[in-house]
Amino acid sequence: MLLKNIRFILTNEHIIENCDILIENNKIKSIKKNISTIDKEVIDCSNKIILPGLINLHLHGGMNILRGISDDLELNEWLNTKIWPAEKKLNEKDIYYASLISYFENLFSGTTTIVDAYFEIDSMKKAAENSNIRAFLSPAIFNQNDIEKVKKNNFFLQKNNSKIKPFIFLHSIYATDKKTLNDTIDFCNKNNIIKAIHISETRNELIEIKNNTKLMPINYLLENNFFEKKSLLIHCIWLTKNEINLIKEKNTSIVHCPSSNMKLASGATLPLIECFNNNINIGLGTDSAVSNNCLDLFNELKLTALLQKHHRWDATVAKTNQIINMPFENGAKALGIDNLGSIKENNLADLISLNLNDFNLLDTDKNTLISNIIYSANRSNVCDVIVDGKILIKNKNLQTPILDFNGNEISLEKLKDIVNEIKNKIL
Ligand SMILES: [Zn+2]
Repeated sequence: MLLKNIRFILTNEHIIENCDILIENNKIKSIKKNISTIDKEVIDCSNKIILPGLINLHLHGGMNILRGISDDLELNEWLNTKIWPAEKKLNEKDIYYASLISYFENLFSGTTTIVDAYFEIDSMKKAAENSNIRAFLSPAIFNQNDIEKVKKNNFFLQKNNSKIKPFIFLHSIYATDKKTLNDTIDFCNKNNIIKAIHISETRNELIEIKNNTKLMPINYLLENNFFEKKSLLIHCIWLTKNEINLIKEKNTSIVHCPSSNMKLASGATLPLIECFNNNINIGLGTDSAVSNNCLDLFNELKLTALLQKHHRWDATVAKTNQIINMPFENGAKALGIDNLGSIKENNLADLISLNLNDFNLLDTDKNTLISNIIYSANRSNVCDVIVDGKILIKNKNLQTPILDFNGNEISLEKLKDIVNEIKNKIL
């Protein structure tokens, strides 16, 4: 496939103008002017910006079906009275459809890699395969039963090179018993599987952990060997200086989810500047369609800048060149994938295009490009989406079939009916 006459390519803060990208198999073969090819698939990009696909480091895809059911509650009440009771009624088929619509929503928003934690891993895998998104998948671990199931599942033990990979998601310290926490950490460290946890999200959580263990949350994780192998720390908005130093020392990435933090009134703001000053890698996540409710990482990128400026009374912080890499390179670094998140020869061909004929991007030039991507672009500008060298969305149209739980092709109308039936059952 050849992307021809690309007006702008943005990668690692660099802008390349009027160039072509040749994709062969699942890789970027070459980036230069006037590439000629006998390839039949040529896409004119003279009015497009090409970016690496965005990387969504935190998602609960199965919750897509619960969007809008609970907008005005505090986290504990939100979980206990609304979310967990509704989730108990979801079966494996329901979770397949919820995950499928979540993955399509991500793709149509320009996100080509997701890190998704929910239930019914086989349904999540099937939805990831059928949507063709690049995915890291995990069930949410709360108790012994959850981790024992993981230990018996080959998906977590076999090394695979496919674009669907496992990781392990511990829900939190407060919702997981100590033995499960230790067993899960052990399992991940021994098998070299990335692990993630919701941490330092609310003040209540912090006080509870401090009262029960005499330690701050990050210190508690340290004491339990959490940082021995690659890990993701999700939220991290209530951090002390000492904890920031520990995260730096352990070379661990933070996942920032500003919409979710603000919607659930989590009360603090990620100390982004202090983390950047300590060279801590920070990527972005949308969190779920219930705590966000819009799975658009362009939105999270803009909110990251706005929140820092507003919170610190300082318009000079969170500069465009400091945050532009958060959904791209930083995401890939958090996952330990060297050939993703930037546009280079031999990198994986996960690319998206934005339409320069859209009114909010019409006046974009080389000097305003990065600013416009952070402050003006959104998912409605996403035109084409390529994952692993395969075009999934072309001129805003899905190029692959929508498949039901049994693998049969269905219409969008049918998918809508199925989703509404599930909602009627659980709510
Ligand atoms: Zn979450």
